[in-house]
Amino acid sequence: MSAWQKHLDENIEEILIDEQMLAKRVNELAKEISAAYQTLDIDELVVIGVLRGSVIFMSDLIRRLILPVTIDFLAISSYTKGTRTSGTVRILKDIAESITDKHVLVIEDIVDTGLTLQCLLDLLGARRPKSLKICTLLDKPTRRLVDLEADYVGFQIPDKFVVGYGLDYEGHYRQVPYIGVLKPEAYQ
Ligand code: 5GP
Repeated sequence: MSAWQKHLDENIEEILIDEQMLAKRVNELAKEISAAYQTLDIDELVVIGVLRGSVIFMSDLIRRLILPVTIDFLAISSYTKGTRTSGTVRILKDIAESITDKHVLVIEDIVDTGLTLQCLLDLLGARRPKSLKICTLLDKPTRRLVDLEADYVGFQIPDKFVVGYGLDYEGHYRQVPYIGVLKPEAYQ
């Protein structure tokens, strides 16, 4: 067994969502999103990935969309210390193109308190897109501090700190192919 595999075995408490479940749900979401925008007969859907946690989910999702898609990226810092967010969002990298008068779908990794989502909606909504929707892979509804929901949700999960499929702990674990619960001892 490799040192990395041993590290995962010791630090991942449980596999919450395995690769098959992820692939199946991403397919379902892509079908749902494609159908919704096909009825609008749009000529472009701007898919904006929130760096860095959404990239793996986004790359899997967009390859299954049956729509004319362009992509852009936004990097934000939520002043996260360890495993909890502080609620203040700062733009580290803005999107490259204007979204005024365009249909926009923002891809998030996880909605927890909802504070990041609220800041994103305020920030991008002020640029007057034609429509603005949010798709998140994961949702922790029990932790919500603001009354906001994503338009498309992959999975609702309990209040546990998860890593993998793009989500990190201090920069690590993003490449893990499943969503796993990190043992509290690993970050406490
Ligand atoms: P919110 O502003 O909704 O509280 O937090 C959203 C951000 O907090 C996510 O984009 C993510 O960076 C971080 N976050 C919240 N819960 C988790 C989790 O369980 N695992 C990881 N890796 N990040 C999380």
